[in-house]
Amino acid sequence: MSFYIKEGRFEAKLGNLDLPITTLIYNFESANGCTGKLIGKCKVWDICYAQKAETTWPTVTPYRERQRAFWKKCTPRGFVNKLAHIPFKTFRFGEAGEIDSQESLDKLNDIAKILWDKRRVVTYGYSCMEHLDFRGSIARIKLSGYPAKEGTTGSTMVVEKGAEIPEGWHRCNGKAGKCTRCNICTLPNIINVAMEKH
Ligand code: SF4
Repeated sequence: MSFYIKEGRFEAKLGNLDLPITTLIYNFESANGCTGKLIGKCKVWDICYAQKAETTWPTVTPYRERQRAFWKKCTPRGFVNKLAHIPFKTFRFGEAGEIDSQESLDKLNDIAKILWDKRRVVTYGYSCMEHLDFRGSIARIKLSGYPAKEGTTGSTMVVEKGAEIPEGWHRCNGKAGKCTRCNICTLPNIINVAMEKH
């Protein structure tokens, strides 16, 4: 289930096929304009589900690019103010696209701090921008395709269904609605996750 939110130039969604309705989803850019792809950091571009959605439904890229435009101009406080009347427990950034710069990562962490302090909302997501400085991150971020580094909560990799995974890694089965029944990626602990293709 998914719920669309619009307030002025701010647009977001609650829930999707994998995430519960209590999760707010916001993209900093589209998959078509993803910085991770443009600078060659993304290792899974050929199987990117966010890209597939944009190819299938023509309204998706413009929606995500409108989110990018708002993101670029907003202050952390301005962003949080847009969320004041929205009931959500978790903030998932970047269903598509990337954290394009250190400036965006710092802004994200300012937002994550306010949301945690005011509402005990956990902010989490994934990034292949391993060259950024994640030290002191409030947002819980796993590095996609790169080893965990200081300030992140682990690493992720994509594997074939049933493939062997390194010892100590958590296997994510990729079934629809999966994160509604699991919260591993929202935890502060360092946990590496192998995600099966679906
Ligand atoms: S490990 Fe759990 S929280 Fe993380 S993506 Fe898989 S189902 Fe979702």
